[in-house]
Amino acid sequence: MVEVQTLTDTSVFGQIAEHQHEQVVFCHDQETGLRAIIGIHNTVLGPALGGTRMWHYASDAEALNDVLRLSRGMTYKAAISGLNLGGGKAVIIGDAKTMKTEALLRKFGRFVKNLNGKYITAEDVNMTTKDMEYIRMETKHVAGLPESMGGSGDPSPVTAYGTYMGMKAAAKKMYGSDSLAGKRIAVQGVGHVGTYLLEYLQKEGAKLVLTDYYEDRALEAAARFGAKAVSLDEIYDQEVDIYSPCALGATINDDTIDRLKCRIVAGCANNQLKDEEVHGPGLVERGILYAPDFLINAGGLINVYSEVVGGSRQSALTQTEKIYDFTLQVFQRAEQEQSHPQHAAIRQAEERIAALGKVKSTY
Ligand code: NAD
Repeated sequence: MVEVQTLTDTSVFGQIAEHQHEQVVFCHDQETGLRAIIGIHNTVLGPALGGTRMWHYASDAEALNDVLRLSRGMTYKAAISGLNLGGGKAVIIGDAKTMKTEALLRKFGRFVKNLNGKYITAEDVNMTTKDMEYIRMETKHVAGLPESMGGSGDPSPVTAYGTYMGMKAAAKKMYGSDSLAGKRIAVQGVGHVGTYLLEYLQKEGAKLVLTDYYEDRALEAAARFGAKAVSLDEIYDQEVDIYSPCALGATINDDTIDRLKCRIVAGCANNQLKDEEVHGPGLVERGILYAPDFLINAGGLINVYSEVVGGSRQSALTQTEKIYDFTLQVFQRAEQEQSHPQHAAIRQAEERIAALGKVKSTY
């Protein structure tokens, strides 16, 4: 789950400067064992909204690297999706199975409260809507609450829908038709989003191959969706049209890029390219079309945003459907600029932030 990046300056401020963050908050509480980092990347468009991830990081440096990369991605995701939100993310260091308690989550909630709305938290890996309820007891700056509490509920179905739209746009660009009928698609990770995505793909008649860290989960999904299950490592060698990373970040790296036999990469995982400047162009050189991760996995954020501004699940789905057009626009821009899609998408997001930088926030 951790996406480590090679940095030129590994000091804390060196890393913050390299990623251009506004603020990074280190949270510590002796009694509950809380060690957390909140990364606020950019608040030009609005408050920094992004989930909290709980993970047993091997080191504090790894946790910092993860939160910096993830929060930067949230800035771009919100900007390119037309949302009035900035980018932020938080990580809690520790094993969610053994360390996550009500007291720890509420203590974390108080740190979020102290930021006075500059950062709004939500769910991410190893966090549940129940955990959000505990955080809500301390601060109102939390989204992704259960529907029973007036929240927007599980964002995964909406994320899957957006990823599906982005994948179809990529098929349109590569094959001239956005139909996925008969297309061979390899899905890596059949968790929340992966499973909803498989539903769409099966309905359209795609030929599916999948894997998951948990073998029983993979076998169950294979039986349910008429797919072939393969081992974790074999997923990279599949003769497919589309590889869909729906588990980890950084799966497109020096070790895997030459093994890919697909024409399209389109999945929901965050930070799929280990090094954007190496592996983005690397995919182009290999004739593989990359649908930018932060663009096509924005459905979840769009759904959470609807909770913040008072929209409905239906309005979130309508907005998410636009990912299809946005993805085609990004491909066109990449072609015109002779760059790669991730680069084109970042430029598009940055342009919106720059253009609106002097406009007063609506919050
Ligand atoms: P999840 O934890 O429900 O599912 C991830 C699945 O990947 C699990 O089944 C896990 O066993 C599996 N996995 C872990 N390591 C693996 C490996 N090495 N190989 C194959 N499978 C492996 O998470 P999710 O909510 O479905 O999210 C999936 C990805 O999408 C994550 O990277 C997440 O950050 C990203 N994402 C999720 C949302 C959302 O709405 N849930 C929104 C945007 C981005």
